[in-house]
Amino acid sequence: MRDLTLLPKAHLHLHFTGSMRVPTVLEMADRHGLHLPEVFRSQWPPELTEAADARGWFRFQRLYDAARACVRSEADMRRIVREAAEDDHAEGSRWLEIQVDPTSYGPFVGGITPALEIVLDEARAVSAEAAAGGPVSPVAVVVAASRMRHPLDARALARLAAHHAGDGPGSVVGFGLSNDERRGVTPEFAGAFRIAHAAGLALVPHAGELLGPEAVVETLDALHPDRLGHGVRSVEDPAVLDRVVEQQVALEVCPGSNVALGVYDDAPQVPLRRLVDAGATIALGADDPLLFGSRLVDQYRTARDVHGLPDETVAELARGSIRASRAPRTLREQMLGEVDAWLATPT
Ligand SMILES: [Zn+2]
Repeated sequence: MRDLTLLPKAHLHLHFTGSMRVPTVLEMADRHGLHLPEVFRSQWPPELTEAADARGWFRFQRLYDAARACVRSEADMRRIVREAAEDDHAEGSRWLEIQVDPTSYGPFVGGITPALEIVLDEARAVSAEAAAGGPVSPVAVVVAASRMRHPLDARALARLAAHHAGDGPGSVVGFGLSNDERRGVTPEFAGAFRIAHAAGLALVPHAGELLGPEAVVETLDALHPDRLGHGVRSVEDPAVLDRVVEQQVALEVCPGSNVALGVYDDAPQVPLRRLVDAGATIALGADDPLLFGSRLVDQYRTARDVHGLPDETVAELARGSIRASRAPRTLREQMLGEVDAWLATPT
């Protein structure tokens, strides 16, 4: 069996708070004198099933907010970027696009602009180490607006993201829309996405996890995404799946997230094979390993062990993540070559 941690891949769906290691959250809570729900110490990862209903999502959101509340200094924010880059590197990720909503951290560091600049500055530092051969992945940033806030807030974030737009590590490379898919009115965020598009950012809103294909259609129509966070429920309407494939919208598929949130009962139910068979471009992602208890390489293990995909197909998933990324062209070509080399190694 080929070692999946050695398969080069890009990680395109990882949230800033959700990337944290449990011991890091506990340390930060202790240092800031904050109380965390007992489940963080007693039974981790937490049971989130039934979370696809409003009550379960509430549990997910409550734990997520508790973890996020522990992040309240520049040092905390830098540590999160660094540890995400270390953990990703250990799993064969050669390019990480970490998704952050700076709104949550602004109050502790002087506003959303410094909050984003801290993340970018640490991403640049880490990426320089990666370029020198250090044990970290290069890191770029996706700025994500929240569906829970006013669309004008999303526009302000899009302008901030546009200001830091670039095409290399340590830059903002994408603009997203996250949080409870059932909240907010998708077309109202179109203005923010137009700003991001004009700046050359990848458009990467969430859609099609908690809601079905109609939400995917609405998002395609209103926001013109390059990729969809999740999008797995496109399979429920063949015409929608056809459109996703035809328009070459990549899907950031996060099987561990889907199961933990109760979107599917268990791992075999995640329609990965149907998406593959339809010809979709897929980038596997961990979403929120802090809460779901599975990291990037676990998603690739699921593809092979649960869905029975042969290494040729698993390698194609890695290629999909690389092609759908905003990694610089030379790095993408290098990574694709290394995927071929991985596949050429004897089992
Ligand atoms: Zn997500």
